[in-house]
Amino acid sequence: MTNDLMPADACLVAQRLACATCPTSVVVLAVRDAGVRLTCCGTPMQQGTPITCSAVAPSAPRGSRMRAGHEYADSNSGLTLRCIREGSGRVAADGRPVVPRFRAARVLPRPERWR
Ligand SMILES: [Zn+2]
Repeated sequence: MTNDLMPADACLVAQRLACATCPTSVVVLAVRDAGVRLTCCGTPMQQGTPITCSAVAPSAPRGSRMRAGHEYADSNSGLTLRCIREGSGRVAADGRPVVPRFRAARVLPRPERWR
């Protein structure tokens, strides 16, 4: 482990987190519970690995579980992430796999609408 890689002990907005095992990288867009523990591939995610603009994005491995550019959420911790680099793992918040935000945010029609 290099010095610029350190375990993320608090989850903060605008924080960039990367998996220590696979190429998956995310940015925190919102979080209510800063103590939420983010993992990928079963290991704690690491912070402090800036990706330079000139870095070529790796092609998504087969079986990629998260899509670059897509948002993911965990309702229990109020967490919203944007995936910025795809990997073979799936990010989890306190052990709960994050879900695509468009699915998590979908709401049912209000009953009043049908009166
Ligand atoms: Zn991973």
